[in-house]
Amino acid sequence: MGTALIIDDSSLIREKLISILKTGRDFRCFLQAEDGIGGLKVLSDASGKVDVIACDLTMPGMNGYQFLKTVRSQSRFEGIPIVMVTSQSEEPEMVKAFEMGANDFIVKPFSEAVLKARMKNMLQMKRLQDQLREQKELMKEMASTDPLTRIANLRRFREKLGEEHARAKRYGYPLSLLMVDIDHFKRVNDTMGHPRGDRVLGEAARILSDTMRCHDFAARYGGEEFVVLMPYADGEGAVQLAERCRKSFEEHRFEGLDGRDGLTVSIGLASFLPGMDLSGQDLVDRADKALYAAKNGGRNKVEIYRDDME
Ligand code: GH3
Ligand code: MG
Ligand code: MG
Repeated sequence: MGTALIIDDSSLIREKLISILKTGRDFRCFLQAEDGIGGLKVLSDASGKVDVIACDLTMPGMNGYQFLKTVRSQSRFEGIPIVMVTSQSEEPEMVKAFEMGANDFIVKPFSEAVLKARMKNMLQMKRLQDQLREQKELMKEMASTDPLTRIANLRRFREKLGEEHARAKRYGYPLSLLMVDIDHFKRVNDTMGHPRGDRVLGEAARILSDTMRCHDFAARYGGEEFVVLMPYADGEGAVQLAERCRKSFEEHRFEGLDGRDGLTVSIGLASFLPGMDLSGQDLVDRADKALYAAKNGGRNKVEIYRDDME
């Protein structure tokens, strides 16, 4: 059952349209406005509930063309079919309305059966549009999520790194990056099996997410390696978060793993500070070098990038 928005300066016509549509099974909810401005207001207030709009062409105030133009220029109203209601004499104008984004028209005086059939058609089109949008959103979500850990994947991380690096550079705030690698993870697989290893990776992603602040962004970089991007965090702030992270792993009791052999992580940290000439990829390379140093330095530790690591 759909929701129709009826825009017409004549309350008589509005009532007539509604009473006809009420005799059908397709529309249950009706909203009304007496000109384009009123229609836009109802549309905004209804926040996504309107399925089909039937709009008069000639109205005092904002007319049908202006309404059409405004609705079609706003992405939040994308996919809502608009049926123009015209009188016989206005028919030549319909081409213009179609070009402006109208989907169909109904000529006054209208046949009840044709009106219902056309509106039903529009409602079906809207349902298809909604399905398509949902599928697009789902695909986008899937394309940027790691299925095992349910956090962002490498592709999404690269995208986010580009965005955050550009923003930090433009507005002059710091951006830090942690590269987190689970120590001796191979042993987990070797002793407990690969499926258990998978579950440990899921738990690891949750630990990271729980440790982060709201602006931070975690992703699975690959294998048993994760990254955390921290906008606004300079070296010092980032070290604190990295240490918190390291401790969280050290203290966490992973389900099924012996307490004495709990998992630890090594973390490499690099920061982009205002004024630095450093690309997003440079930041990743630096964090990677610092991680390598943390591994070489005995694991279960945080290393901050230094130039002599090059
Ligand atoms: P290090 O302390 O040097 O990091 O040792 P490590 O054993 O963690 O590192 P190494 O790179 O030698 O091995 C990583 C292991 O992670 C090997 C690989 O089988 C495992 N691994 C990578 N991806 C997955 C995955 O998706 N699931 C599971 N269960 N294991 C994975
Ligand atoms: Mg490892
Ligand atoms: Mg590794």
